[in-house]
Formats: sequence, structure tokens, C-alpha cells
Amino acid sequence: MTFEEFPFNEALKEGLQAMNFEKPTPVQEQTIPVILAKRDVISCAQTGTGKTAAFLLPLLNNLMTDNHDKKKVNAIIMSPTRELAQQIDQQMEGFSYFLPISSVAVYGGNDSQAWDVQRNGLTRGADVVIATPGRMLSHINLQNIDFSGVKYLILDEADRMLDMGFFDDIMRIVKLLPADRQTIMFSATMPHKIRELAKTILNNPVEIKIAIARPPDSIMQAAYICTESQKLLILKHLFSVNVPNKVIIFAGKKQRVRELALILKRKGLPAEAMHSDLEQRDRDHVMHEFRNGRINILVATDIVARGIDIDDITLIINYEAPRDVEDYVHRIGRTARAEAKGMAITLVSEADQPRFKNIEDFLEKTIYKIPLPPEVGLMPAYNPKAASENSPRGKFKGRTQNHASKQRGKQGGKHRPPRQKPNN
Ligand code: ADP
Ligand code: MG
Repeated sequence: MTFEEFPFNEALKEGLQAMNFEKPTPVQEQTIPVILAKRDVISCAQTGTGKTAAFLLPLLNNLMTDNHDKKKVNAIIMSPTRELAQQIDQQMEGFSYFLPISSVAVYGGNDSQAWDVQRNGLTRGADVVIATPGRMLSHINLQNIDFSGVKYLILDEADRMLDMGFFDDIMRIVKLLPADRQTIMFSATMPHKIRELAKTILNNPVEIKIAIARPPDSIMQAAYICTESQKLLILKHLFSVNVPNKVIIFAGKKQRVRELALILKRKGLPAEAMHSDLEQRDRDHVMHEFRNGRINILVATDIVARGIDIDDITLIINYEAPRDVEDYVHRIGRTARAEAKGMAITLVSEADQPRFKNIEDFLEKTIYKIPLPPEVGLMPAYNPKAASENSPRGKFKGRTQNHASKQRGKQGGKHRPPRQKPNN
């Protein structure tokens, strides 16, 4: 189908054309009519499937057809991170370009001028407020904001918001809103706590679930089986001839991200670190430099894996196998977007082997193991089951699972082991 088939306002259709949107993605096709019908929705689809437009377009159309109080805040969109809030705001500006609808983005880490713009937007009643929960509460704590005109509440990346510990903040904000409103939740995953949140704040919702896709074939996946100390040598080898255009190296811990970025920079490579300890200004700067190509290698924790939309990334390197399959899919989904080709390489040490096997099991395929270049040394055997049994965390018989679930003796789901997210 095409966007023409939705009963959208003409000026909104012009915005769509200006943004070059022609065909809706599956999550858009399914979610837009339900939001237009003013039903509550929980919509679950993985990153990169077009969830932003799936809520922005019908929201804007609803705002054009309902008669809301123009002097009040009418819609609140909550997003876990500043980067995501900015991206939503940018798409919002594109789609609403020809519409008389105002919006303000409310997120932290800015100067006092930004604070004033945000406060004015909130107190003077911007139609749409795009906010991170923490910053929204800072404003709420300092001044009276009239929420009586809020008809729409949208939670984007709800799973991420819960992972980041925003449950109480969200509930505090929700309690200030009129009960008579449309509430919409988007999530990349549907764990139990998301269902619980949905039960609490949604009213008889329509559930939309787009199956988690295997990574597209346009992403070439490969791995190096190696030891921990060989990993740096492999990186050196990969960048010895030339550095591909846009590379993201993912590492699980901030400390590791910092170290790697430093090592690469010392080698004269255009690398920069990206993690949640950075000031907002520095984060914006790094992302900007990466987008425009002045930085070629971004070393990052998972904060950039989810949701962040950067085109034309040619190579993803996982410095270690990610904790669970969904992180892997999110990470490598940063490449090969919009039908381009991309490559994802995972460095698999002995400790990583069981996790990597889980990923292969989920993908139902064997990922190609690149032979180690001679200067790196001998390749260890890939024997994930033995590796897990010999691990220092305890010798358990039976199926290979991640250590945490085995230690707790629980029947953790094979593809989604219970996880303890470090604060990155
Ligand atoms: P998600 O929120 O599911 O991670 P986004 O909404 O950020 O995904 O969309 C990912 C990218 O795809 C964005 O660059 C967006 O502009 C683009 N996009 C989304 N839907 C369409 C569409 N129907 N046609 C063309 N581009 C689209
Ligand atoms: Mg999104």
C-alpha cells in the first residue's frame, strides 16, 4: 500500500512527500489505522522498522481533526534518551512543516537558554512535548504546568525506559495527566514488565506485534574466534590497510569503550568514544562528527545501538559477543540500513563462546569464522559447550546457557536469558 491510502490531512501528505516517504513499513501499516481510530495501542517492533512515523503521523492527523485547546499541551511523547528525543523532534518538524502544530523538545544537559525555551514551551502550551522523563520532572518540580489539555500520551522505546529505571518517573508523570486520553506504547521487545506497565496505563489496548526479524541477508555476518589478548591485534589488522567509511565498535562496558578509543586514537585513527558518562554537549559533538564523517570509528556502548538512526554504516564490530541475542540484532542492525550492504564482525574470546553460540542458535545458522591473520597467532578451537563448562563460574552439566541463568538454576528462556544490564 501507499501513504495515499490513509485518510491524512492534505498538508500532512505534503510533509510526507517532502520527507520522501512513499510506502508505509509493516509496523506503520498496522499501527496507523488503530491510532487514527483513537484506540490505545501497544506496538512492538524492532529498531529501525519505522516506529517514529507510526505514531507521529496519526498523532498529527488526530491533532488536526480533534478540537483541542490550542493554549494547552495536547500531546506528550516520552523517550528514554536525549538522542532519541532529538530524532523524534526532527521527524516531527519534517512531517508538521506545513501544519499549524507547535512542538518543543524537553531534554537535559543543555544550557540555560535551552531550559528557558523548554519552560516556555511547557507553560505556554506547545501542542506536542517530546521529553525525557527526568527532564520533564525537573520542569514539573519547578513550575506549574497545565496538563489538563493532554489528550495523547506516547511512550517510545518503553522497554529501554524501564531498563534505564524510569518506571517511577513515568508513573509520576502519568498521574498528572487526564484519565481521558489516548495512550500509545512502543517497544522493541515485550518482556513481562512491559506487559505490566501496559496493564497499568493503557485502556483496553490493541496489541500489535511485528515478529522479530532475523537480520537481513544484506548484512554479512562473520566472527573471529580468538583469545582476549588477540582482539586488539585483530582490530589493528582490520584497520591496517584502510579504515572503512563508518565503523561502530561496540563494547559492553564504558571502561572498555574509553580504553579502545584511546588506543585507536594513539594509532592515529579517527576514533571517538560514545557512552553515557559523556556530557550531552560532547555526545552531540561526537555524533555530529561521526555523521559528517570527520570521525570514522565510533567506539560505543549499547546506548547508540538502540534507536539511533545513522545511515551508511559499513562495518559493525562487536568487541565481545553481546549478552543477549536482541542486543546483537540491534547492534548489527545499525548497518545495511535502507537496502545498503553492511558487514558485522564479532570478536569471540573463549569467555564469549557460549553467548555467541546462543546467537547462532537464534539465527539458526552458523556464522562464518574468519581464519586469524598470521600475525595474530593461532586460533583457539570453537567449542562453546566446553568453554562454558570450563568457565570459572562453576561447572554445570547440560545445555549451554548463560552463566547467570545457570547459577540461579532457573529455566531462563534460551534466546532471552534473564539479564542484568550494567548501567551504560
Ligand atoms: P524505529 O523507531 O523503529 O527504530 P525509525 O522510526 O527511527 O525506526 O525509522 C528508521 C529510519 O527509517 C528513519 O531514518 C526513518 O526516516 C526511515 N523510515 C521510516 N519509515 C519510512 C518509510 N515508510 N519510508 C521511508 N523511510 C522510512
Ligand atoms: Mg524509535
